[in-house]
Amino acid sequence: MPAYEAVIGLETHVQVKTGSKMFCSCPNKYGEPPNTLVCPICMGFPGALPVPNKLAIRKTVEAGMLLNCEIAPYSKFDRKNYFYADMAKSFQLSQLDQPLCLGGRVRIGGKGFSGSDIPEREVRLNRIHLEEDVAKLSHKGNATTVDFNRCSLPLMEIVTEPDLRSADEVYCYLTNLKQILQYGDISDCDQEKGQMRCDVNVSVRPVGTSKFGTKAEIKNLNSIRAAHRAVEYEIWRQVKEIEAGGTIVQETRGWNDDTGESYSMRNKETVDDYRYFPEPDLMPIYLTDAYIEEIRSALPELPDQMRERFVREYGLTEYDAQVLTQEKALADYFNQAAKLVKTQKTLSNWIQTELLRELSAAGTTIEECPVTPKELAALVTMIEAGTINGKIGKVVFAEMFTSGKNAKTVVEEKGLIQVSDSGAIEGFVNQVIEQNPSQVEQYQSGNPKVIQFLVGQTMKLSKGKANPQMCLELLKKKLDA
Ligand SMILES: [Zn+2]
Repeated sequence: MPAYEAVIGLETHVQVKTGSKMFCSCPNKYGEPPNTLVCPICMGFPGALPVPNKLAIRKTVEAGMLLNCEIAPYSKFDRKNYFYADMAKSFQLSQLDQPLCLGGRVRIGGKGFSGSDIPEREVRLNRIHLEEDVAKLSHKGNATTVDFNRCSLPLMEIVTEPDLRSADEVYCYLTNLKQILQYGDISDCDQEKGQMRCDVNVSVRPVGTSKFGTKAEIKNLNSIRAAHRAVEYEIWRQVKEIEAGGTIVQETRGWNDDTGESYSMRNKETVDDYRYFPEPDLMPIYLTDAYIEEIRSALPELPDQMRERFVREYGLTEYDAQVLTQEKALADYFNQAAKLVKTQKTLSNWIQTELLRELSAAGTTIEECPVTPKELAALVTMIEAGTINGKIGKVVFAEMFTSGKNAKTVVEEKGLIQVSDSGAIEGFVNQVIEQNPSQVEQYQSGNPKVIQFLVGQTMKLSKGKANPQMCLELLKKKLDA
């Protein structure tokens, strides 16, 4: 039995974050009662005229730049004709042969936070085009309901070359793509709301051959996890079919996430079946050099660039930088606080241990964190200045998190200011030496480790408020004398 390799290409649909729909002024809003956000244009009434959404075009161009595409100075919309319940006007406005963005590439594997066991390389993009979403169909028993609120929302389609080779690579590609689009504020990519969905084209061939096998397309995968599972299943199904002497049929398949299996839907249409033609009611889009440059000059910092900056400017480790940039909201939080502290490394530790732990224990998100970046920075600054020690800092933080009070108030209310007065500390130290004669003797007869126990006892006497470094120094001074 020969070994097989998979050849995979992806078409990812991403809803663009705009105020209104692609060709009319209906709101782009999720969760409203069905069929309340509609008008004659998105319902395709006779005589209705579309007007393109400028922000959707701008965001698609931005996405193209963030994904290393070439921006087409001239593009146009085409009608993709088909008859189906999810598109009242019987055609979808899309872009056939002159899309807004051409080429492009997305890095996978390597040092990124996901798929670290995948070698680093680039997945080539074929294009990004802009189109309108279709209505949402829900199947309940024998009935199907249709919600046109989603119909005609701006939808970007990002098409790769058949460059991916495994389900893990697909997972990594989609995770990186989602992260870039979120950082660019192109889309929230909320999979629960259907803002990011993909179709995967999968074929297999014996390792070492270059001819593509027959591909099957699996449609409408609603999450990155579903895409991973569907690709894994489809590779297994095709290899099994070929090994049993069968042939793969070119077709469109659906995915059942509950059973974990794909199923045949229909024979695959070709481009000709849709009878595309240029949309007669819309002018082509011309983008001037000045417009393209204006967008390019205002592009946001991407996770890769941010990680590199955190390592270079703040002295964080690669690992820390990865954790902090995993979610855009967390990176924003860190960036705001980082400007207000002296050592960003300490801040990073606080976020990664205390903050993330409290958030997860409270089952809440960084967006709803009761401690603002400014307040966390204030706490870290108090520790840096020696006003409180690190251990007390943890108590203060927990109190800030539950009560929403700021660091200064908690420290004052609870009388937690660090004792750095050498007279007071000397009193504690004398008491500890007196109460622990055997440990003192062990230390003096050559066991230096016991000093930590004595420091601990001193801290305990001070109710945790003594400056630990001063305790250590004073103990040594007295015992070594
Ligand atoms: Zn409308």
